[in-house]
Amino acid sequence: MNLDLKEINRCVRCGTCRAVCPVFEESGWESANTRGRILLTRGLARGLKADPEVLDSLNTCTTCGICTDNCPAGVNPPQLIEAARRELVGQGIVTREQAALSRNIYESGNTFGDPGDRLAWLRDRSRLREKADYVYFVGCMNSYRRSDTAARTFDLLSRFGATLLPAEQCCGSPLLRTGFDAHRFADENLRQIKGTGANTVITGCAGCYTTLKNNYSADLEVLSIPEFLAEHIFELDLEPLDITVTYHDPCHLGRHNKIYEQPRRVIEAVCNLKEMKACREAARCCGGGGGVRSAYKDLSLRMAKRRLQDVPEGVDYIVTSCPLCIRNLRDAGAGEKAIDLADLVASAIR
Ligand code: SF4
Ligand code: SF4
Repeated sequence: MNLDLKEINRCVRCGTCRAVCPVFEESGWESANTRGRILLTRGLARGLKADPEVLDSLNTCTTCGICTDNCPAGVNPPQLIEAARRELVGQGIVTREQAALSRNIYESGNTFGDPGDRLAWLRDRSRLREKADYVYFVGCMNSYRRSDTAARTFDLLSRFGATLLPAEQCCGSPLLRTGFDAHRFADENLRQIKGTGANTVITGCAGCYTTLKNNYSADLEVLSIPEFLAEHIFELDLEPLDITVTYHDPCHLGRHNKIYEQPRRVIEAVCNLKEMKACREAARCCGGGGGVRSAYKDLSLRMAKRRLQDVPEGVDYIVTSCPLCIRNLRDAGAGEKAIDLADLVASAIR
């Protein structure tokens, strides 16, 4: 979507979105809630120049999408906000953090600017198959920061014949969400996927999932780990666990792609599930998406702390299926209690 005035003018300024925007909840400023941001997109679409405050207003949106689900006029604010960010990037108006993040990705192929081997966690390279039915797309965070989860996820998916890309690149999500171009990364990842002969890509990161599924223009089946495991959970030899967990819906699996039932089906095959106070369509954002964690860490962690208030009493773990959510929830106080769905399933394998 471009900065389309017709689309922007659908906003009737009713303010319904003020009640749900997680950033507004923390900042209280009109410019940091959906309605204020839409007003800014209107200014930009009419050719007004942006100042640093406009940048902060537009860049603090986590693209959580709860405003879209609640807007009576059918506006899709995150799409307009991403279009506004592209417009600003096109004019060379970016924050220091945006510039650093994009430089990292363009120079190293990962969000951390890490020059190291992306597959350092894979001890046995002979497990890479040249041809396979499935590709496990690992993502930057699991490759470089949560590599135990990457290894356990690959162990699970290998049972079904999955392989890895030989030289996976960042999926491009952080670039696309913050207004930059990611064609180069989409083209390279698609070239490698094609090389494996696989028609299905499976990913354990909500950001990678939504990007491969909705931004890559290719005839490709993209599955999230919850979707894949929900189909195959009873083919695994499981010993149910005597624990109770809750589930945090990542925005880009839940609201953006309506994946609500599958993770719950997987959890209930393994242990007890107790829902969060706000869940499914109403789930609060962890605060980590849309480039907010890298540029506005304090704000991002305040949102994560608020999300932790939704955790019900008496649960052993907070399970989710996005490493960015795990990082934010852990850093906000959940610690080792926040775990990946694949790790939960792996611990129940006989
Ligand atoms: S974006 Fe939707 S909910 Fe928010 S003020 Fe505009 S019309 Fe109302
Ligand atoms: S997508 Fe989320 S953070 Fe962004 S304006 Fe909408 S409610 Fe606020």
